[in-house]
Amino acid sequence: MKAVRFHEHGGPDVLKYEDAPKPEIQPNEVLVKVKACALNHLDLWVRSGVRAWKLPMPHIVGSDISGEVAQIGSLVTNTKVGERVLLSPGISCGQCEACWKGLDSACRTFTIFGVMVDGGYAEYVKSPAANVIPIPGDLKFEEAASVPLVFLTAWHMLFGRAKLQPGEDVLVVGAGSGVGIAAMQVAKLVGCRVIATAGTDEKLGKAHALGADEGINHTQQSITEEVSRLTGKRGVDVIVEHVGQAVWEDCFNSLATYGRLVTCGATTGAEGKVNIQALFGRQRTILGSYMGGKGELMDVLKLIGERKLKPVIDSVFPLAEAAEAQKKMESRDFFGKILLRP
Ligand code: ZN
Repeated sequence: MKAVRFHEHGGPDVLKYEDAPKPEIQPNEVLVKVKACALNHLDLWVRSGVRAWKLPMPHIVGSDISGEVAQIGSLVTNTKVGERVLLSPGISCGQCEACWKGLDSACRTFTIFGVMVDGGYAEYVKSPAANVIPIPGDLKFEEAASVPLVFLTAWHMLFGRAKLQPGEDVLVVGAGSGVGIAAMQVAKLVGCRVIATAGTDEKLGKAHALGADEGINHTQQSITEEVSRLTGKRGVDVIVEHVGQAVWEDCFNSLATYGRLVTCGATTGAEGKVNIQALFGRQRTILGSYMGGKGELMDVLKLIGERKLKPVIDSVFPLAEAAEAQKKMESRDFFGKILLRP
């Protein structure tokens, strides 16, 4: 089969479009003919090399995958050849305490397609049968591949971690990112007021079109001052954050009493200061969040199938142009998901 692999860590140019062996499935696995694979920032971290992960080489990234079932193992009963499916991106053992509690990402063997196992930058990918989910509604393959990682992450941040309540004020930082786009829609769906931040007015315009009530251009305005103005000095109840160091203090200072700051990333750096007096005095909470459980993904997919939540697509590249697609992601000049089509 054709695949995009890298044999060593580095910049986008280490990605090679080349022949690779077609995956061989076990009795409990499914072979999927990939129809679309969405990019995530995770792909860039994995390609450039994260010290904690010693990857099998050569390696295929790609965590958000949709396609058609091409072959099933002898023990597989939950799908059949030809079915249109998407793959739940998180792979866990299914037989430990964390898995039984629905806390998939706390499983000790937890990984994600494209991290410790080969992902979707290829014509075929193999998957545990437990990760194969029928595509909901009339979603196209590109739309289906745009959903899992970002919507699951946003859902788990807002509900699993920050316990979002209807009508609260929510600040979504980096609203043009995949997680930002998902978080804005989820918060709007339950009647929250959404304040979005982005680096350009063009992205803020798109955020408004997706339902954001207010916008802050964080390259020109102070997040803290604008939130104070927009909330009558009260602050926001929940902050969805993944930008990290560059906005950390501004975000923390924008929290209301009993406010919750939930983060799933640190793109601009991992160090952040916290004023401990403001933390206890105003009874604030700082929460970490990482992916989510399959049960949460099913909640998301129901609403996606009903078109109450919408995947947003920026662009689609042929698989052979994966390096170009990743360069586009690195440029930050996009809004919505960037996809590959084998
Ligand atoms: Zn487990």
